[in-house]
Amino acid sequence: MRRFAVRTYGCQMNQHDTEKVSNLLHHGGWRPAAREDEADLLVVNTCSIREKAEHRLYSDLGALRAWKAAAPGRLVGVGGCVAQQEGDEILRRFPQVDFVFGTHNLRRVPALVAGAEAGRRRAALAEVRDPARFDLPERHPAYAGATPGRAWVTVMEGCDMFCSFCIVPTTRGREISRSADAIEAEARGLAAGGVREITLLGQTVNAYGRHDVRRGRSQVPFAALVRRLATIPGLARIRYTSPHPIFFDADLVRAHRELENLCPHVHLPLQSGSDRILEQMRRRHTRDDFRRLAERLREARPDVALTTDLIVAFPGESDADFRDTLELVREIGFVDAYSFKYSPRPGTRAAELPGCVPAEEAQARLQELQALQRGLTLAAHRARVGQATEILLEGASRRPGQVMGRDPYHRVVNLSPPAGLDPRPGELLPVRLVEATPHSLIAELAVKETHGQADEAKRRRAESVKIASRTGSFSA
Ligand code: SF4
Repeated sequence: MRRFAVRTYGCQMNQHDTEKVSNLLHHGGWRPAAREDEADLLVVNTCSIREKAEHRLYSDLGALRAWKAAAPGRLVGVGGCVAQQEGDEILRRFPQVDFVFGTHNLRRVPALVAGAEAGRRRAALAEVRDPARFDLPERHPAYAGATPGRAWVTVMEGCDMFCSFCIVPTTRGREISRSADAIEAEARGLAAGGVREITLLGQTVNAYGRHDVRRGRSQVPFAALVRRLATIPGLARIRYTSPHPIFFDADLVRAHRELENLCPHVHLPLQSGSDRILEQMRRRHTRDDFRRLAERLREARPDVALTTDLIVAFPGESDADFRDTLELVREIGFVDAYSFKYSPRPGTRAAELPGCVPAEEAQARLQELQALQRGLTLAAHRARVGQATEILLEGASRRPGQVMGRDPYHRVVNLSPPAGLDPRPGELLPVRLVEATPHSLIAELAVKETHGQADEAKRRRAESVKIASRTGSFSA
């Protein structure tokens, strides 16, 4: 049995690409290695969103020379955004690499592996505009996916927005949406296999279908797609990421009020709270537009949790611009934020802009912003103590003896299961929040099970394990 391992860097799109590659390899007879030193094939799925992530590949490849030499016949593949950008250059510079595949060429991985086994080193980098590139085999019965009970579903890829700091339109190509019928079929199949939560994925996910609707293809506007998926029996939760603020139409906002299984969490990238910087970033909205959108979402769903992405020290960012960001972050009260120092990416417009913020100042701004966000996160967590909620169990917690899951607001919730109860990943559990910490919430089971309930829970679990082993949705 040939074994493979994958190192994944970057965003959810990359993580999902790793799932797709893993599934293709399963169909080709490969199985996952427990450890990299037991693998015959190692795939590095790369990210180029920041300079640091890109450098990581080159240090990985240096170390992989020894890994490859340690056993005859070992193979190394490189995929993802750096692969798309650098392509043949990776093959030229790193003889230990056997094949390279770009972001549109996942389907070619089994053929590339077979070629590498026959001694052919190749790169597959062509841009594929045909939506057939989304047509991948169903989950192999032996493949559980990254997390039982949860699954990503790609609805669109690429980006036509060309924000000045972002390399994604180059590495992922132009927007292309998948057919609504294919998305629905995949979601139905996942739900039938025991998946309770799906996350719809796209670089600008709520731009889904916008170019195709007017051409009369089988896509529908994003909100209509969400409404269609919300009717699928068994799907308890629907999420989507990452939306662009300018593509929230009235129907999508309304969907947050009307659809019970559309999660009350929106990850809404702000990037900067300064109008001047937003314009330089080519974000196509102002701080007021963003503030109004947050209000509209809260009117539709008062408990919605908003999280965001922020960049500090964008070229030309003055202290006043940065203060504008702090003010808007405080005013909106994000529950969480991913914040980074600006990192110039060659080939983007922002990389040519003057006004580089000195490194020390950039670091100080990042720390100030993160300190503010830590306070907001803790306050948001504290405000929820005492509430009842439901978590989808993911597995063992970092806290010894506890398990962890996520609630509908996408917060991490840790729980000590009562003695005798052995909840399984992928199971939905009712809990009551009892304590807030800066990074997570702590809960106890909301309902103390009677013996009869415990028996019923056992029966349900046995049933779901039976379904899972029939469909391969997750390992028992
Ligand atoms: S919307 Fe902007 S930040 Fe997001 S992927 Fe497209 S170019 Fe990058």
